[in-house]
Amino acid sequence: MTAPNLFGKKVTAGQKTKFRAPIAELPDGTPVTVPVVVVRGVEDGPTLALSGAIHGDEYNGVAAISRLFQQLEPRDLHGTLIGVPVMNPFAYYAERRLNIFDYELQNLNRIFPGDPRGDLGQIMAHRLFTEIFGSTDYVIDYHEGGRDFMARYLIVGGGLEEDGQTFERGREMARWFGHGVPTVPTRRLHVERRPGYSGTLSGATGRQGISTIAAELGGAGRVWEEHVADAIGGTRNVMIGLGMLSGEMLRTQEQQYFCETHEWPRPTRSGLLVPTPVAELNAVVDEGELLANIVDPFGEVVEEIRAPFRSVILDTRHSAVVYPGDWTYHCGKID
Ligand SMILES: [Zn+2]
Repeated sequence: MTAPNLFGKKVTAGQKTKFRAPIAELPDGTPVTVPVVVVRGVEDGPTLALSGAIHGDEYNGVAAISRLFQQLEPRDLHGTLIGVPVMNPFAYYAERRLNIFDYELQNLNRIFPGDPRGDLGQIMAHRLFTEIFGSTDYVIDYHEGGRDFMARYLIVGGGLEEDGQTFERGREMARWFGHGVPTVPTRRLHVERRPGYSGTLSGATGRQGISTIAAELGGAGRVWEEHVADAIGGTRNVMIGLGMLSGEMLRTQEQQYFCETHEWPRPTRSGLLVPTPVAELNAVVDEGELLANIVDPFGEVVEEIRAPFRSVILDTRHSAVVYPGDWTYHCGKID
């Protein structure tokens, strides 16, 4: 793999640096930049790139990347760690999932590897991909539930069009990550139903043969110390697995489920979503178990939301009002 161009910034062996890279500009000419952190080890080794806040209302990855950068020293590192804590500055300013200045309101995590002659979002995706993420060895992309959900799971990316090795290596990264965080594959059916999913960062890197996991940790519009700790501990484990750090991986007692399939039961009616006590993050529920009722303003239950199979709950919904087809509780299938 060729070394990332890093927006032209030269980083030598043993150097730890942070800088801002131009990504766009405001209509008055003010430059818009993304923060970039780089720790290059004294010794050679793989390059791991970390991505945060592709969605602007997802904050725990921002905290995890910046803290990891503060903790790591080049003398302890084999290879290079690169982090972009805020990938989508426009969405981050607005505290929104999407960039409101993109004319088509495109989801940055549906348009990778981008297009240099496209809209604002496509140009940003192209810059980030060509300067960093398309030429690293491994990627961890931090996401979470955003303002409306809480999440705790890993997605193994790039499981669709590559040779299988990229995906298997990604699965290994998820196992190393550990911390009892349930893991799901990118699901072909999911991508076929919603074609935009082939434009996720992990989809685009996967097609380049770059093993990638997306770590969905936290949500509800705030920083959670326990989710940041999982992100940092899990990432350090992956770095130990890749030979970038020495030492023992941090292991917890919590069982890590590997789900072969996953699904969001979706309402067909609108209403107020009233969860049952079992509908907790990472709880295990049986097939058909009631997760929530959708009620009308007179208190009548108009629809029940039930687990489609025996599941570990990967996402819980925090916004109370639902429309038909909305995401409710994300269920990962377990035996
Ligand atoms: Zn996200």
